[in-house]
Amino acid sequence: MTPILVTGGAGYIGSQTCKALALAGYQPITLDNLVYGHRWAVRWGPLEVGDIADRAFLDRVIAQYRPEAVIHFAAYAYVGESTQHPGRYYRNNVAGTLTLLEAMRDHGIGQMVFSSTCATYGNPQRTPIDEDHPQHPINPYGATKLMVERMLGDFEAAHEMRWAALRYFNAAGADPDGEVGEAHDPETHLIPLAMQAVHGDTQQVLKVFGDDYPTPDGSCIRDYVHVSDLADAHLKSLDFLRNGGKSGAFNLGTGRGASVFEVIDCIERVAGRPVPIEIVARRAGDPPVLFADAEKARRVLGWTPRYPALTETIEHAWRWLQSASQLDKQR
Ligand code: UDP
Repeated sequence: MTPILVTGGAGYIGSQTCKALALAGYQPITLDNLVYGHRWAVRWGPLEVGDIADRAFLDRVIAQYRPEAVIHFAAYAYVGESTQHPGRYYRNNVAGTLTLLEAMRDHGIGQMVFSSTCATYGNPQRTPIDEDHPQHPINPYGATKLMVERMLGDFEAAHEMRWAALRYFNAAGADPDGEVGEAHDPETHLIPLAMQAVHGDTQQVLKVFGDDYPTPDGSCIRDYVHVSDLADAHLKSLDFLRNGGKSGAFNLGTGRGASVFEVIDCIERVAGRPVPIEIVARRAGDPPVLFADAEKARRVLGWTPRYPALTETIEHAWRWLQSASQLDKQR
């Protein structure tokens, strides 16, 4: 089995990707500092606990497993926190990735699939957003991801390292088999927060950030892409690079947007109960409409979402929430 190093493999998208790698016959080696990742999410290969910024640790893990390529998820990913503690984000996401890239260069690992984001685009000048859309991030999180994209280009020019930067839109859903799913602490994302509000153990109410946007129902529109489809895109990118494919950035989204109120309606249908909501002020930095033109990923990588329908994505997330809260009760 070909070993692949997966940094952040104990996280939401990383763990789902480890599953996809294992099913495709690769050996995923998870490297995670477990700050936000979970030991229980590492089920398809060994876990090495440590930091991407620790060069001696990287040297040891790489020497031990001799990975052929790296899939790099490890990063802090809270937009709000990144505005309050930018240093933490630049140090971890940028400086940490630099250490990783230098280790790859020195050990002769020539391919990286990188977890990037549509946050590198900033406020959209047009929708759908294609890969040539200008990149002007409006928060430190997006800026750190853009800096890494630039570093990848420079490492390619100097060291022939090939890469795929996958710019996700809104990751959502859970493993269709219910084996892994989202477990962020703190949780800031719409779908899990709305589900927690319906789930009802707490007196939680979902705060809807603004109903006065210039959209048909006044709430923000986003492109929710299933986590299992994201995992599949990593696998396809890896195969593409291993077969000599050319470096590049790829948007990953369904190409269709859903508003906050449409998401809430869908959750209510799936859960069979109302989502208690409160309309509050807009959240700073939220553009009204974001959705992807993911045509390039289809054309070049042969990627199309297997779960393009929001209902199915939400069904999987709902099932995951129920089983995860059962497990919590048993602990
Ligand atoms: N949102 C909301 N209430 C929440 C969390 C999110 O109304 O408690 C809205 C948010 O303004 C955005 C959409 O839901 O329009 C998706 O937000 P999320 O934080 O899930 O992802 P983002 O688009 O920021 O990456």
